[in-house]
Amino acid sequence: MTFWFIVGSQFLYGEETLAKVEADAKEIVAGLDLPFPVEYKLTAKTSREIEETVKQANFDDDCAGIITFCHTFSPSKMWINGLTKLQKPWLHFHTQYNRSIPNEEIDMDYMNLHQSAHGDREHGFIGARLRTPRRIVTGYWKDSKTQQQIADWQRSAVGAAFSRQLKIVRFGDNMREVAVTEGDKVEAQIKLGWQVNTWAVGDLVSEMDKVSEADIDKLVDEYRSLYDMDEKDIDSIRYQAKEEIAIERILVREGAKAFCNTFEDLHGMKQLPGLAAQHLLSKGYGFGAEGDWKTAGITAIFKAMYPDGATAFMEDYTYDYEKGLILGAHMLEVCPSIAKAKPRIEVHHLGIGGKDDPARLVFEGRSGRAIAVSLIDVGGRMRLIAQAVECCEPTQTMPNLPVARIMWKPMPNLETGAHNWLIAGGAHHTALSFDVTTDNIRDLARIMGIELVILDENTTPYALEKELMLGDIIWR
Ligand code: MN
Repeated sequence: MTFWFIVGSQFLYGEETLAKVEADAKEIVAGLDLPFPVEYKLTAKTSREIEETVKQANFDDDCAGIITFCHTFSPSKMWINGLTKLQKPWLHFHTQYNRSIPNEEIDMDYMNLHQSAHGDREHGFIGARLRTPRRIVTGYWKDSKTQQQIADWQRSAVGAAFSRQLKIVRFGDNMREVAVTEGDKVEAQIKLGWQVNTWAVGDLVSEMDKVSEADIDKLVDEYRSLYDMDEKDIDSIRYQAKEEIAIERILVREGAKAFCNTFEDLHGMKQLPGLAAQHLLSKGYGFGAEGDWKTAGITAIFKAMYPDGATAFMEDYTYDYEKGLILGAHMLEVCPSIAKAKPRIEVHHLGIGGKDDPARLVFEGRSGRAIAVSLIDVGGRMRLIAQAVECCEPTQTMPNLPVARIMWKPMPNLETGAHNWLIAGGAHHTALSFDVTTDNIRDLARIMGIELVILDENTTPYALEKELMLGDIIWR
């Protein structure tokens, strides 16, 4: 995907200045080292050309957002007709072509050309006046910390574009009686663009029946190359391969990038997909267990934002109050992208669901700063909750717990972090990511226009309660 760069100016200063504005803008664009390309599009001088460019951006599927910078003063009334039609993410880049003020060179011509301190204030005003959601990045364009902020926003803009096209396949309904995994799928499509629909488990079983032994051989060879495994478990592993191939064929046929299933609806299947779901996650598909289509969608978006990153479907399980840590795991379906070492395929009894022993990847998660994110439906709107966490490798061997597992400390500590999470209403399921930052989440929520609650070192329960009460008014 591409981002469009529009530099603001006007006719007031003459053709020579406009030519310099364009040349400088092109130099700035060429000097940006970002994950997604930026294309110089326009030196804006009239309302008409801004409006036309915005309309083109809106209808260009490859355009993930626009970046604006006012090299000279660019009167904002001429931006109104464009900005009121803007449907793509907007970043206002408040920078300047020159880093410092040249003592001898500076005169009034120089002042008229290098006046983003002046022009970008006019530009900032119209953003505020129109209440148009925008990300502002302030700093010198050659500085890496400035460019990093643009890079972060690009990830979120690309995630938002992915979200608007996302299809989620549900095999079976939500787990019986569970509240937090429910939600308004119409609202999800309006706000997030997600098309969430159901496919019969019986149709999945029919698809499994069509999978050839040769196809299974090929996928099992891939498992062998990626994971440690014991050939005595081959029958269970082959069954997971058959499930994975059938699920992926349906996802590809439907153009879907995420799916969910439930252990309560596996009619005609011998094993709950474990290894199958884990390997699909590692290939970039989103997943949620027990019918959790919301976490499936969030996981898929994070994987689209950071294709080679570490993001997993996760669940808060058990506390260690002594060490101040949460043990996170799931019955089976944790993505191996967060593994600290080569995962191992194991086959063990699963006490839930009454099916055959499923093959699953067993591993320990890696350490480092991460984020745990939950999307909930609070009635009439979606709330995104993101908690900063510090992950660590499990502190015990836990030989009788053959699942993928990881431990973490929610910020600022277990007691306050868990307390805040409960106040906000976050689910037991999350998308756990080592790449997505709180800034990414802020950008994503702003672009999508949904409520966001960040829980971090600075969040206190009392302030959080007040924030949520205000949110009920703001987001009504
Ligand atoms: Mn679960």
